[in-house]
Amino acid sequence: MSDHRKLGRELGLFDTDPLIGAGLPYWLPDGATVRHTLEEYIRAAERRAGYRHVYSPVLGKRELYELSGHWQHYGDDMYPPMDLGAEQVVLRPSLCPHHAVIYRSRAHSYRELPLRMAELGGMYRSELSGVLGGLTRVRAIQLNDAHIFCTLDQVADEAGAALEMIRQAYEALGITPARYRLSLPGPGGKYVAAPELWRRSTAVLTDVLDRSGLAYEAVEGEAAFYGPKIDVQVADGAGRESTLSTVQVDFHQPERFDLRYVGPDGARHRPVMVHRSIIGSVERAVAHLLEEHGGAFPAWLAPTQLVVLPISETELARAGELVRRCAELGLRAQLAGPDRGSLGARIREARLVPYQAVMGPREAADGRLALRLRDGRRLNPLPTGEALARIDALVRAHSTELWDAA
Ligand SMILES: [Zn+2]
Repeated sequence: MSDHRKLGRELGLFDTDPLIGAGLPYWLPDGATVRHTLEEYIRAAERRAGYRHVYSPVLGKRELYELSGHWQHYGDDMYPPMDLGAEQVVLRPSLCPHHAVIYRSRAHSYRELPLRMAELGGMYRSELSGVLGGLTRVRAIQLNDAHIFCTLDQVADEAGAALEMIRQAYEALGITPARYRLSLPGPGGKYVAAPELWRRSTAVLTDVLDRSGLAYEAVEGEAAFYGPKIDVQVADGAGRESTLSTVQVDFHQPERFDLRYVGPDGARHRPVMVHRSIIGSVERAVAHLLEEHGGAFPAWLAPTQLVVLPISETELARAGELVRRCAELGLRAQLAGPDRGSLGARIREARLVPYQAVMGPREAADGRLALRLRDGRRLNPLPTGEALARIDALVRAHSTELWDAA
C-alpha cells in the first residue's frame, strides 16, 4: 500500500499550501471529481434508504454546544469561540446539535418515525499543527453524517440497516474492513454520567452486532462522550487502524434537547437518536481509497474513466468525437494525442485509467473500439455504441469489475 499523500500529489488530486494553513487541504479538479462522485453515491444510497437531506450552518452559538455537552466533554478539540458583540459563536465540532435542533423545530408524531436526517456537512477540529498531514489529520472535515430519530423498538432495526448500508458501500468502493469494534467507555474519559443509559445503549449495539453475524471486538476507552458505538476499522499500509464508519445509539442528546414525539396514546415520548456515518469523512475515505487501490479507483469513481489514444494526427478528429460522445453519456473521457509522446509512453501514463481506447486508421474508419483494460486485458473490437453502453452499465452499477464477460 502506498502513502495517500504521495499518490495525491502524483495524481494531482489535492494539496496544501502554507498560506492557507496546515491541515486545510484543497482539492484539485481530479480530486474534486472523485469527491463529488463519492458524495453523490452516498446521497443516492441514503435517498434509497429513506433518508432526507438537510443543510445546516457550520457555526453555532456557544450555548448550543453547552447544551449538547460538547463544550464540557469535547472542548479540547474545539476552536476557540469568536466574539460577535454580546454573543460567542464557534465552528461546530459535530453536526448532531444542529440536527437535534432541526428535529425539535417541528412537532412529530410516531407515524413519522423513524425520521432519518442526513447531511454531508463541514465540521472542525482544532488539531495541533504537529500531527497534521494529508487528508487523514485535518482541521476542516466534510462528514457524511446522519441522525435517525426513532422509538426504542426501532433502534435495533435502524442500527442494523445502517450496518448493511456500510457493507454495501464497502463492496462498491472495494474496501475491506480490518475489523468491527464495539467501542465502550474506559477509565479516565470525559463521559456523560448516566449508567442506566450506557447500559441500555450498549445492550442494543451488542444485540445488533450479534444478530449481524459479524466478528467484532469490544474495546474500552473508544466510546463517544455521550454513548457507545460500533466502529468499522480500516488499516493503512503500516497496519495502523482508523475508524471509517460508525453507528451510535444515543439516549443522551434527546434528553439534553428535550426531544419529543407524540405517541399513539396521545402522550409525549422521548425518541432515541442513532448517529451513523457510512464512509466517515470524505477526506479520510478518499485517503483510504487511494491507499487501498494504489490510485486505481473503481471505474465509477475514477477521475478519468476512459482515455482515447489516437495513433497519429490522422485519427485526432475521430478521437475528439469519441470524447464528446462519452461526455454526453456522462462518462469522463480524455484525449491523449500524439503531442503527448509515443503511444507506449501515453499508455504507461494512463496506466491507472480503467479503459484505454487505442484508435488507429482501422478503428477510425469502421467505428469500432479496441479497448485495453487497466488490468492488462485486451478486448476484441466492439461497435463503439456497444462498448460505451457496457462501460456505462458497469459504472452505473458501481461495479468494481472492469468488464462483464457476459
Ligand atoms: Zn451525531
